[in-house]
Amino acid sequence: MTEENAPAADERMVVAENVHKSFGRLEVLRGIDLEVRRGEVMCVVGPSGSGKSTFLRCVNHLEKINAGRLWVNGELMGYRQKGAKLYELRESEVAAQRREIGMVFQRFNLFPHMSVVGNVMEAPVQVRRTPRAEAKATALELLDRVGLADKAESYPGQLSGGQQQRVAIARALAMSPSLMLFDEPTSALDPELVGEVLDVMKDLARDGMTMVVVTHEMGFAREVGDSLVFMDGGVVVESGEPREVLTNPQHERTKAFLSKVF
Ligand code: ADP
Ligand code: MG
Repeated sequence: MTEENAPAADERMVVAENVHKSFGRLEVLRGIDLEVRRGEVMCVVGPSGSGKSTFLRCVNHLEKINAGRLWVNGELMGYRQKGAKLYELRESEVAAQRREIGMVFQRFNLFPHMSVVGNVMEAPVQVRRTPRAEAKATALELLDRVGLADKAESYPGQLSGGQQQRVAIARALAMSPSLMLFDEPTSALDPELVGEVLDVMKDLARDGMTMVVVTHEMGFAREVGDSLVFMDGGVVVESGEPREVLTNPQHERTKAFLSKVF
């Protein structure tokens, strides 16, 4: 693909084209092609080890891909393209690209020595040089949005796992990302805490956030997802409208996987 026919930023938020990733001799991604439209919620499911986390890490260039192309919001991740040639971006330029992308992991990784509001303010103040008062006002709004306005001055250790994960979402949103990546955000939570995190994600989706969500929550995928991707062995085995894929899977591998998770 050349500069001229690079995907337009206005309709497609993520474009993955023939993405390959190996660790040593282990080929983890073996040619991933997919597109996420602006405002779309794409859910990604698949067995452990199929490459889901690696793919998310490639999207924000935490991992360098070995072949293929990845665009986010019209920008080629990690590279500048001139004609047929690719030039690696400097680390500061990659960091700037990454700021457009919020990421929420299975483990919340909040700073334990900082208050909840401190956690949410940290990146805007340190990275964007937002004035503290302004960053705090935004952080409090975001905490309100995830239902934790009353916990602003608490410390992460005083919160439940579900509350910590909601803080982690607020923290990611504080950088005003145009894309949010979720890697099994509810997998580490006690079952009774899963719903409150999914509810926050549902609100985000309703507000038009573009999201790629690796999850085993098929109810969420069915209700909130615009598309569902089934990965296995480093490839997209099938994808489509979630209800369609879940009720009428076309491939044996998808059928076998779904029969195990339901
Ligand atoms: P999933 O998220 O679908 O469970 P992962 O993307 O975490 O799968 O892992 C896919 C494969 O890549 C696994 O075999 C895993 O051991 C391997 N892998 C992931 N990260 C690394 C790494 N940094 N170094 C070596 N192997 C890795
Ligand atoms: Mg994973």
